Amino acid sequence: MAKKEKTRDKFTIINELARRRGFFWQSYKIYGGVSGFATYGPLGAKLKQNIERKLRELFVNKLGILEIESPIIAPSKVFEASGHVDHFKEPMVECLKCKKRFRADHLLQETAKISAWEIEKMSLKELRTAIEKHKIKCPECNGAFGEPKQFLTMFKTTIGPYSKAVAYGRPEAAQGIFVEFKRLYQMAREKLPFGVLQIGHALRNEISPRQGLIRLREFTIMDLEFFFDPEEPNCFLLKDVKNEKLRLLLAKDKLKGSEKITEVSVKEALEKGYINAEWQAVFMAFAKKLLVSLGVPEEKQRFIEKLPWERAHYALQSFDQEVLVERWGWVEVSGHAYRTDYDLKRHMEFSGEDMSVYKEFEKPKEKETIVIKPIMAKLGPAFKSKAAKISEMISKANPTEVEESLKKKGFYMLDGYKILPEHVEVLRQKVLERGKHFIPHVVEPSFGSDRLVYVALEYAYHVKDDRAILGFPRDIAPIQLSVYPLVSKDGLPEKALEVYKMLVDEGFVVEYDEGGSIGRRYARADEVGIPLGITVDYETLKNETVTIRDRDSWKQVRSRIKELPELLHKYFRWKINFEDLGVPLES
Ligand code: AMP
Repeated sequence: MAKKEKTRDKFTIINELARRRGFFWQSYKIYGGVSGFATYGPLGAKLKQNIERKLRELFVNKLGILEIESPIIAPSKVFEASGHVDHFKEPMVECLKCKKRFRADHLLQETAKISAWEIEKMSLKELRTAIEKHKIKCPECNGAFGEPKQFLTMFKTTIGPYSKAVAYGRPEAAQGIFVEFKRLYQMAREKLPFGVLQIGHALRNEISPRQGLIRLREFTIMDLEFFFDPEEPNCFLLKDVKNEKLRLLLAKDKLKGSEKITEVSVKEALEKGYINAEWQAVFMAFAKKLLVSLGVPEEKQRFIEKLPWERAHYALQSFDQEVLVERWGWVEVSGHAYRTDYDLKRHMEFSGEDMSVYKEFEKPKEKETIVIKPIMAKLGPAFKSKAAKISEMISKANPTEVEESLKKKGFYMLDGYKILPEHVEVLRQKVLERGKHFIPHVVEPSFGSDRLVYVALEYAYHVKDDRAILGFPRDIAPIQLSVYPLVSKDGLPEKALEVYKMLVDEGFVVEYDEGGSIGRRYARADEVGIPLGITVDYETLKNETVTIRDRDSWKQVRSRIKELPELLHKYFRWKINFEDLGVPLES
């Protein structure tokens, strides 16, 4: 089977294997299937849960992140405030012959090989000219295209039986966090920095998704919003990751048409100003580690900086973490945006709710203020009956502006009245400030679970002796162990079921497989990536030992049944290696 796979690409192989072995497949197949929707089978659902668990282990536990679950549907106001109703659009063209619709930018990228960032800059008119220039025709029927249009990629609906109660399916989980900020801040004991994670479905009405799990209309997003004081970010994790290397493709190099990778440590990236916010740099280092733990080596990852016109409307600086895959080239797996105070400010404006926080200084700060004091004895003779009114206006004027104007010009114009230095006294007063009101800033790492599932599968897949193997890192494998009786007789199945039950009771995810030759059973297990196989044979009946087989090296060791739980727990927590599980067997 694996031989013919040499002619097919990994995307095809993985999608076929995923369908056949129950990782995932296109949804609604009995009605012909619908692009952009996937159903996870038992193995895929488990793999996805394991990947999400890894993210929680890495980000949530280390940082004391709060996790929430909010609705998928939100009233229109939420996405008007967030800017999505105005900005969450993609350029679309329709084939004049078959009426199929496509992403104009993707067609140009794939057919004319123009880079994404160059296309992103184009107006609808420029897109049309480029489509004509490169003679791009409909991939389905070779027909010509009409005028490009902007298509809002949010799913629109109404809440209840009221046509005016317009609502949208969320295209990101982040807004569910921002709208609850005040309450969450209280739960974080009113201290910054703190972060909130939401893992849940997101809806994006993609125009023509043709990339399996990589481009879905309904997918799982993992949005982490990390709130901090921009003047005192208190980035306490920087010391842990400051020497981690990041592979950056910087905006300045992109503009030169170069794909040069700048490899720098987190510390250098901050010192050189490549990354603006410390917390953003820290999360990028964590994101790199997460992908390494899913089986993607560092050299197959990069962070590509977005140019100003490529960035989402809310971002001051953003990087996409990309992974190299065989068919699609560099694919974004997570976005890292410095969202500043954009979202909280907008929700404050639109809802009228105060989203600012008050921070008390450790020590009150002395601040000098300027006070402009009118001198009535001088104003009276100069302005007569208007003097009282002018005196009041002077008290309300901006003191810094008044002082500067008097110094520079020798007078200050106030509603047509010329105020001279002798009309006022400029005083400097010291006041004690005990704290400050401000809107926190946010950095956001945002991962797509489904793309992580796809890259974990592509990087796990390899062929050994013409056999397909999914060499997942041991802690994300959907099934951890399989238990086999060597043959289906002489009491071996009964003993194997006993071992199986003990391991299940210990909390392992175990499969019991009795069918076919032992070689075929091993091959089946390798193809779904089960790290260890435990075989019960005739010796087991004599001395309570079993063999353990390693999926990757195909080596075997012999171990005592009663020691299995402890050894295996250590093995799956990366505390010991395969060789430590027992006494080696001659292969
Ligand atoms: P974005 O907000 O566009 O940066 O998306 C955040 C993350 O969600 C991306 O890095 C992807 O991993 C994932 N993602 C975005 N769009 C899709 C999609 N249509 N299908 C699957 N995953 C997606």
